[in-house]
Amino acid sequence: DNFRRHASEAQKAAILPKACSGEYIGCLGITEPNAGSDAMSMTTRAEKKGNTYVINGSKTFITNAPLADVMVFYAKTDLGKGPHGISTFFCYPKTTKGFVCEKIKKWGMRTSPTGLVTFDDMVLPEDNLFGGINQGVQILTSGLCTERITLSGCSLGSMRVCLELSLKYAKERVQFGKPIANFQFIQGKLADMYTRYLSSKWMAYSAAAFCDGLENKAGGKGTDLDRMAAAALLHCGEAGTAVVSDAVQIHGGYGYCQEYAVSRHYLDEKLWHIGAGTSEVRRMIIARELLRDDFASGR
Ligand SMILES: Cc1cc2nc3c(=O)[nH]c(=O)nc-3n(C[C@H](O)[C@H](O)[C@H](O)COP(=O)(O)OP(=O)(O)OC[C@H]3O[C@@H](n4cnc5c(N)ncnc54)[C@H](O)[C@@H]3O)c2cc1C
Repeated sequence: DNFRRHASEAQKAAILPKACSGEYIGCLGITEPNAGSDAMSMTTRAEKKGNTYVINGSKTFITNAPLADVMVFYAKTDLGKGPHGISTFFCYPKTTKGFVCEKIKKWGMRTSPTGLVTFDDMVLPEDNLFGGINQGVQILTSGLCTERITLSGCSLGSMRVCLELSLKYAKERVQFGKPIANFQFIQGKLADMYTRYLSSKWMAYSAAAFCDGLENKAGGKGTDLDRMAAAALLHCGEAGTAVVSDAVQIHGGYGYCQEYAVSRHYLDEKLWHIGAGTSEVRRMIIARELLRDDFASGR
């Protein structure tokens, strides 16, 4: 999305058709080993040399980096300007010298590999910078809004499937001579799961609809979208972990076994408290935007 909104027509023509067809897998590099929540303190450096940039630094926890064909990442082009010295680049990991990726072992979200990327004197043509020199901070923060709404959908999917699996299991599993769905403790969990799922769905859908109504879907600091996207993922992430936990509980010991899908959702769901800015960071964003002088309640 960052690339679509900010790259030139020629850059988009080279990458987007292949990204849309699935021929190219993409990844996005913001986080660094020493710059997580405080992403603006990144130290990856892009130094101009003639008509190239020489990139040095590292990015960590990068989803799909071990198999990516194209990577969008942020680096400092002016160290003295803090966040206003960040620019946006893209590179082709599989064919660019100086790009090194090491796979990180994780206990959840096993369907996509995650990598620690090192840029070791990686030379890129100057045309691989997009969105303007030192304009990266707006691209980065704005892109996080659409990412947060998208990830809300991932959490929603887990909640829905866990609710469906739990309803089915509760009707089939017999204890004390009756399906466990007859017991009020189980019914209470099912009701809570449904309520959390539905409230999450409305938050995610309303943020998505609001975003769709904006010209160029621009978010970032000082926009209503920033608050709404952060609130959607905050709620979906926290409601989601409660829902998957209830699903495992309804499945009893079987829910603790890999054979049962609810166990995978239990592991995956925790990521939605962490990725794209942690729950704590989302609360900070929501509060900052609520305290803006022109905040209009009701949205
Ligand atoms: C599986 C996975 C996939 C990921 N994919 C990507 C990706 O594709 N691209 C990418 O760039 N990044 C990715 N990330 C990184 C993710 O965005 C970061 O992990 C996240 O932003 C937190 O950074 P950190 O891990 O360094 O934690 P830290 O920033 O070190 O935070 C540690 C704890 O301190 C809290 N904390 C920090 N600052 C404050 C504060 N001011 N007030 C209160 N609490 C605070 C945090 O909320 C957290 O609880 C991924 C992470 C994971 C686990």
